[in-house]
Amino acid sequence: MRPQILFPIFSSISNLRGVGEKTGNFLSKLGIQKIADLIFHLPSSIIDRRYSPKLINAQVGKIITIEVDIVEHIAPKTKKQPYKIVCTDDSEQIILSFFKVYGDSLTKSMPVGSKKIISGKLETYNGSLQMSHPDYIVDVKEKDSIFKVEAIYPLTAGLGNRFLSKIIAQATNLVPKFDEWLDKNHLKSMGFASFNESLHQAHNPLTLADLENSSNTRTRLAYDELLSNQLALAVVRNSVKKQPGQTIKGNGLFRKRILDILAFKLSSSQEKVLAEIYEDMGNPSRMHRLLQGDVGSGKTIVSFLAMLNAIEAGYQATIMAPTEILAKQHIQTMQELCEHIDIRVELLSGKIKGKKRTQILEDLKSGKIDILVGTHALFVEDVQFANLGFVVIDEQHRFGVHQRLALSNKGEKTDILVMTATPIPRTLILTAYGDMEYSKINQPPEGRKPTTTSVMSLTKVDGIINSLKKQIDEKKRAYWVCPLVEESEKLDLQAAINRYEILQKTFGQDVGLIHGRMKEKEKDLVMEQFRDGKFKLLVATTVIEVGVNVAEATIMIVEHAERFGLSQLHQLRGRVKRGYKESNCILLYNPPLGETARKRLETMRDSQDGFYIAEEDLKLRGSGEVLGTKQSGFANFKIADMSIHQNLLLTANKDAKMILELDPELKTKRGENLRTLLYLFEQDSAIKTYLAG
Ligand code: ADP
Ligand code: MG
Repeated sequence: MRPQILFPIFSSISNLRGVGEKTGNFLSKLGIQKIADLIFHLPSSIIDRRYSPKLINAQVGKIITIEVDIVEHIAPKTKKQPYKIVCTDDSEQIILSFFKVYGDSLTKSMPVGSKKIISGKLETYNGSLQMSHPDYIVDVKEKDSIFKVEAIYPLTAGLGNRFLSKIIAQATNLVPKFDEWLDKNHLKSMGFASFNESLHQAHNPLTLADLENSSNTRTRLAYDELLSNQLALAVVRNSVKKQPGQTIKGNGLFRKRILDILAFKLSSSQEKVLAEIYEDMGNPSRMHRLLQGDVGSGKTIVSFLAMLNAIEAGYQATIMAPTEILAKQHIQTMQELCEHIDIRVELLSGKIKGKKRTQILEDLKSGKIDILVGTHALFVEDVQFANLGFVVIDEQHRFGVHQRLALSNKGEKTDILVMTATPIPRTLILTAYGDMEYSKINQPPEGRKPTTTSVMSLTKVDGIINSLKKQIDEKKRAYWVCPLVEESEKLDLQAAINRYEILQKTFGQDVGLIHGRMKEKEKDLVMEQFRDGKFKLLVATTVIEVGVNVAEATIMIVEHAERFGLSQLHQLRGRVKRGYKESNCILLYNPPLGETARKRLETMRDSQDGFYIAEEDLKLRGSGEVLGTKQSGFANFKIADMSIHQNLLLTANKDAKMILELDPELKTKRGENLRTLLYLFEQDSAIKTYLAG
C-alpha cells in the first residue's frame, strides 16, 4: 500500500483550485495527471523582476517592476489604436497601452489617482516610455508577490505561465515533509539539501545556473529518482535470483543436427555467448540474461539453439517478438529448420483466432507444441504451457520489466533470455535492467561487407535518381525512406506520396509505396511484392524500421536524414546489411544542416559499429530521445538526464546494492523512508510484487 503520507500528492490535479476539465486536458498534454506530476514539472527559464529603477534612469528593453500613480485614461479614437493609461513615478511618465480591453475593466481596476505596481518590458514609442500589456498590475500591498525572480515553466498552447505557476505552488504546498532516505554521510559529502528543500529551490530559481540539470538542487532530485530506479531493479533482481531455477542440460542431438545443416558456421562471438547461455541454463539458479547484438549479428540462431537445449532436456520454450511482422519472420526461420528435427513450432498472435487458436492453446497445454512464437498476445491471453522451461524475449525496447516478468511467470522457474537488437549504451542498460547479466555479440558474422555510406544534399536528388535507375536496371533493389512523425503526420505523408509520384516518372510500375497509415493487410501485400521483386524500389515511411528482411535489397536511401535520430538511422541502414553483397546507404539532407545534425550524419558515415553509434547518440541527445518511443521499456526519467548524470547513476547503483545487503526487506527506519521514495517515483510495482508489506 502506498504510504498515507503520499495520498495528497497522488490525487488528481482536478483537486486543485482552478483546474477544471479544460485545463486538465492542457496539463495532460504536458504529461501531468496527478499532483505528483506537477511537483516534478520544473522551470525551464526565469524572468528577473527585481530591476526597479526610477523611470528616468531605466534601461529600455529590460523588464522593470515599479510603483506608479495613475494619471489619465485615454480611450482610442479608432479601432486600430490602443487604449492608453498615462502613469508616472515622479521622475518620468510612462504610457501603458492595451490592444485588448474588456468593457470598463481598466477604468475600474486602475482608477485615476490610484497607485499600482506594474511589471513588464520597458519600451519607447513616439519618444515616450511605454509598456504594452504589462505582465503584472497589482496593488501596492502585493508588491512582494512580484518583486522577485519569476520561474518560467515549460508550457503548452492554452496554458499560461502565471496559471501554471499558481497551481504548481498549490501542488508543492501539498508535499509532506519527508524523513531523509539518503545516507547521512552521503548527503553531507554531496552537499545536498533535504528533498523538501531541494524541491523548493528547484521551483524558485534565482539564476540561470539554478536551472541546469547539473545544479546541486537538481542533482539531488535526480539522485533520488535514480536511486528509486536502481533500488526497484535491485529488489526485482534479488527476488529473481533467490528463486530456484531448473537445471537445463540437453543431450545436444537436435543442436548437432541443426548445426550440420546450417549453411554457415557460427561466429566465434556467437559461440561465446552460447556458451554463456548454456552455462546459465545448466545452473540450478534462475537465469535472467540480456543478449545484445546489433542488427544482423545473428541473434536469432543463437536463441534458437538455446531453445533447442531446453527442448532436448524435455521442456517447452517460447519466443516473444514485439511485432507481428517479426514474429512471422521468426516462425519462418524456425519452421524451416525444425522440419529436419521433428519439432513442432507454432505461432500465436492477436490475429490467430477461433478454432485454430483453441487448438494451439490445447496443444500447448498438453505439451504437443515444443516452441511457441508469439507477440504481445501472450501476456494478455490465458496461455498455459505443459512444461515451459525457457523464455526468449526479442524486445527491441518494447517491453517493460514488468511485462517481462509476467511472461516468465507462465512457467515455474523458467530461464529468461532477453534479446535487444538496438545497441544500448552501458549506462542505459543499467537504468533498464539493473545488474542483469549480459552477453554481447560484438562482431557481425564473418564476411559481412560494411555498407558504404554517403551523405549528400537533397539538391543533388536528380543525379541520385539517375544513378539509382542504372542500379535498378542491374537488378538491384532499394528502399527510399521518408520521415513521418506524429506531429506533422499529414505533411509528412503528403511528402512521401509526392516522392513516390516523382519516382514513378522514372521507375513506373517498379516502385511501390508503404506507410504507417495503411492497413496491416495492405502493408503485408506491398512488402511481399517487394520481396518477390514485383517492386524494385520501395518508398517507405519508417514502418520498415522493424520490418521484414529482404535479402535482395542492398540500397538504402534516407530522405531528410537530418530529421532522424542516430539509432534510427543505424536501424535503417541495418536493413540492407543482411547479406554478403555490397550495400549502399545514401543519407540525403535538406540544407542548411544544423551542428548536431551534421555530427549525426558524420557519425553514420564514419562508423558501422552500433555500440559506438549508440554512445554517440547519447552524447548528442538526452536519453529519452535516444530510445525514442514512450512505450519503451526504459526508464523515462522526469529529472535525471542520462547525458550528464551517468556517474550519479553508478553511485545510485552501488548505493542500492548496499542498501539491500544491509536491509533486504527494507524494514529498518531508513528502509521505510526508502519505500516512500519508491512510491514517490512510482516504482511501487517492485514493492508490491517483491517485498512483503
Ligand atoms: P539479428 O541479430 O538481427 O536477429 P539474424 O539472427 O536475423 O540477426 O541474422 C541475420 C542473418 O545472418 C540471417 O540471415 C542469419 O541466417 C545469418 N547468420 C547468422 N549467423 C551467421 C553466421 N555465423 N554466419 C553467416 N550468417 C549468419
Ligand atoms: Mg532478430
